Amino acid sequence: MDKLLQVEHLNTYFPIHDGRLHAVCDVSFHVNKGELLAIVGESGCGKSVTALSVIGLLPHRCKVESEGIFFEGSDIGGYSHSQMRRMRGKEISMIFQEPLTSLNPLFTIGFQLMETIRLHDDSGREKNREKALEILRKVEIARPEAILRSFPNELSGGMRQRVMIAIALVNHPKLIIADEPTTALDVTIQAQILALMKHLMAEYRTSIMFITHDLGVVAEVADRVLVMYAGQVVEEATVEELFREPMHPYTQGLMNSTIRIDQEEGMLPTIDGVVPTLAEMPDGCRFHPRCPHAKALCRSESPDVRSLGARRRVRCHMCGGVAALPAPG
Ligand code: SF4
Repeated sequence: MDKLLQVEHLNTYFPIHDGRLHAVCDVSFHVNKGELLAIVGESGCGKSVTALSVIGLLPHRCKVESEGIFFEGSDIGGYSHSQMRRMRGKEISMIFQEPLTSLNPLFTIGFQLMETIRLHDDSGREKNREKALEILRKVEIARPEAILRSFPNELSGGMRQRVMIAIALVNHPKLIIADEPTTALDVTIQAQILALMKHLMAEYRTSIMFITHDLGVVAEVADRVLVMYAGQVVEEATVEELFREPMHPYTQGLMNSTIRIDQEEGMLPTIDGVVPTLAEMPDGCRFHPRCPHAKALCRSESPDVRSLGARRRVRCHMCGGVAALPAPG
């Protein structure tokens, strides 16, 4: 499969008076053309910072270093702000969790949609309006003419998210980065939006980097999955492999704490403890204070990422290395 995006050894950090606080630490991954890669993990695992590092939308005080962020072979990691601005909305678009933070409340949907078209592919007012109406129909918005005249606060959450998808797609980008795009929606609307994104992805041959904390959503939409913990990739697998045999203890913990159809009544197990803060990263394996399989080695030495086959990677001393982990419960 052709790679659309390839990120090599990404490090994102905040400089502080006596060093650096790493939000993303040595993260490498790729997104194939036409593929949906899910990045999953709890809040504070570095998923969103990874995405914002790729698209160049972090605040100035964050520093991004890498051995390359290759988009269609070009290293966009070294692009200037103006080069990145030209790419955003045209080659790479982003959809955020809460559309109200991305849509300007003072302008109509029509103005904001047509402004995105005008910035990257201006064909004159009438043609731009036609294009805006067409994309609103594609995202299954009824009465698109009326929606063009509406302000964001006049629409429901689901409608606003459809508008955001329309804005993200209108210039036919090759990659969409969707950061928890359905988390704020109720379950029925969430299912509709996910189905719509999958459908449009196939129609426009767009790749998607889908950030979520929800393994149920991952199972529904993903082709491949990257599991992140404390700023590092801890497991990478196809969605089938991951659900059939989660290898990393953190992935196993996430799986165990997700409701399944065959779930018996009672409390779901949880992963003890919380994700460490950037200032309090433990030595050795970052997951060791929460890991039920931790050994002395885990407390002193950070595990490297191991490749287990062509498409599988795991960061754990006990996976494919010195010892085998027991099967997930
Ligand atoms: Fe657990 Fe050790 Fe593996 Fe870390 S390296 S996930 S502590 S078994």
